Amino acid sequence: MTTTAEKQEFTFQAEIEQLLHILSESLYQNREIAIRELVSNASDALDKMRHVRLTDEQYRDDEPLEMTLEPNAENRTLTIRDNGIGMTRDELIENLGTIAHSGSLAFLNRLSGDARADLSLIGRFGVGFYSAFMLGQRVEVLSRSYREEAGWRWESDGSGRFTIEPHETLARGTAVTLHLKPDLDEFTRPERLKHIVRKYSTFVPHPVKLNGETLNEQRPIWVEPKTALSDDDYAAFYRHISHRVDEKPLWRLHLSSDSPLSFHAILFCPPTNLELLGFGRIEHGLSLCAKRILVQDDCRELLPEYLRFIVGLVDSDDLPLNVARESLQDNTIFRKIRRVLVKRVLDHLAKLAEDERETYETFYRQFGPALREGVATDFEYRESVAALLRFRSSREADAEALVALDQYVERMPEGQTQVYFLGGPDRRSLDSSPHLEAFRDRSLEVLLVTDPIDEIVLATLGRYRDKPLVSIDSAEVELPAGADKAAAEAEGAKPSERETTPSGFGRVLTLFREALRERVEDVRESSLLTGSPCRLVNPKGAASAQVQKLLATAGQELPLSRRVLEVNPRAPLIRRLCELSANAEHEEFIRDCGRQLHANVLLLEGLPLSPAETASRVERFLTE
Ligand code: ADP
Ligand code: MG
Repeated sequence: MTTTAEKQEFTFQAEIEQLLHILSESLYQNREIAIRELVSNASDALDKMRHVRLTDEQYRDDEPLEMTLEPNAENRTLTIRDNGIGMTRDELIENLGTIAHSGSLAFLNRLSGDARADLSLIGRFGVGFYSAFMLGQRVEVLSRSYREEAGWRWESDGSGRFTIEPHETLARGTAVTLHLKPDLDEFTRPERLKHIVRKYSTFVPHPVKLNGETLNEQRPIWVEPKTALSDDDYAAFYRHISHRVDEKPLWRLHLSSDSPLSFHAILFCPPTNLELLGFGRIEHGLSLCAKRILVQDDCRELLPEYLRFIVGLVDSDDLPLNVARESLQDNTIFRKIRRVLVKRVLDHLAKLAEDERETYETFYRQFGPALREGVATDFEYRESVAALLRFRSSREADAEALVALDQYVERMPEGQTQVYFLGGPDRRSLDSSPHLEAFRDRSLEVLLVTDPIDEIVLATLGRYRDKPLVSIDSAEVELPAGADKAAAEAEGAKPSERETTPSGFGRVLTLFREALRERVEDVRESSLLTGSPCRLVNPKGAASAQVQKLLATAGQELPLSRRVLEVNPRAPLIRRLCELSANAEHEEFIRDCGRQLHANVLLLEGLPLSPAETASRVERFLTE
């Protein structure tokens, strides 16, 4: 039987082996981030110790909390030592033998080529410790937890296994020693280490010492007045807090308030949305400090879920230091701070949209999905979030141009009471949609959405500034009075010609109805269409075609609700069919036309057709 007093061998969780492999492949330039990750871990351990000392009598002492870098050129080692919280044996096994975030490896695996080489994001994935193996061919961790009298020695060469054995004479804290790989002697050079610490770790809130000299500034810049800070100060702080190296935030927000609440905050928006890159859900939060002291480094409750892409720090003088994670949300001050933060972020975005349109659109292309989530989940600020949404529009010549709902509402012609939108698989199908044609001819703007999520968002929203949001393939559409006249004039058609329904039209409708009995709810005359022969209209209250399609692909066995085929008596093709209908011989041909017109509409909407049936029908047409 083995006891914990003996040296014991363990295997890493399978994923770690793969991770170590990816790390060892990474580029030379990335190697300095290993120092940053180890310094950041030491800093976290010091934060935790400071917190324990402040909240638990029995561990109170005055020893300064700090870390030291101890290079040894002769032995070719580098040690990063801290007198922080330390680790027990179980903690060493748990923390240095498994990956906490299950999505991390999946993400790293998906990175390829240059992206894989750029591992600068590694700290974001909770796998920072393993970057030690980018520098060390062997890594040794000595650690003693503040709760224990003796310590432990952990060691691994990064090849899938690690060992743990007791190590009696240790001071509280952790020392990570890297036995440097060949050719990496530079990491024992003080100048090189100084440079790295100043580059990445200047805001670490504890002294980082090397040969007695403190290398970092440790400024709590969030309590300084904005005017005293430069863009570079903020950028450096961003790099510190986001673990993202050569990156500038897209925007920042520095808030300071004395009353009624006393708090400071710096919030940053990263330039890219990691979730769009396939990292799954972002699971981090803001750093929460009380009187400059970190109480929680991943406080996800400070902002609503949909704003989870924001990184930053919040510090309040009104929060107790020993506030527990579980009780945070019940804390009145905490809840008030959260409300202020959400409001200020949304105000900031609105202002950004107004003052710096391009930056806003860049932001929107990255974080639009977050805002759409906000519309669905933030009942309190729904309208403010909706105001931040952007859509493509039939009014804009540039297909990529983005339009806000406010802009749409402001340019609605008199008499228009609804906001019109149309969903479709892509822009080209939308442009040739018969629904759209009818609105274009009447000079009515339609928002064009090719992402079904946008359609769901619009449907969820229901109204904007009291105007119903209506999909133009729905029977709920109301046209402004006078729109038809405008359309007729635009088309230059003689009113008489437009108004008379050709004889035989009733017969054509009957034949269509017979042909499509199984597929549509009804066949009716259209009062709306101008040039197209027909369109499919959703009954009142039914989800639009795109939304139904989305539900269908999401595996929801929801049969497409049957729609009404509207036929346009003014379309040349239909007029011709009306003439043909006088002769009974043409009846089957007219029915086939009905089936084909129906199929065409489905095709434009990206809905499935029966290929065999369509092909044989087209053949019949060609023969005819
Ligand atoms: P993360 O820091 O994101 O949690 P890491 O891979 O960097 O992920 O570290 C894993 C865990 O190992 C940390 O969460 C911490 O519990 C523990 N750890 C690492 N370094 C130290 C240290 N110097 N002192 C105490 N605990 C540490
Ligand atoms: Mg870490």
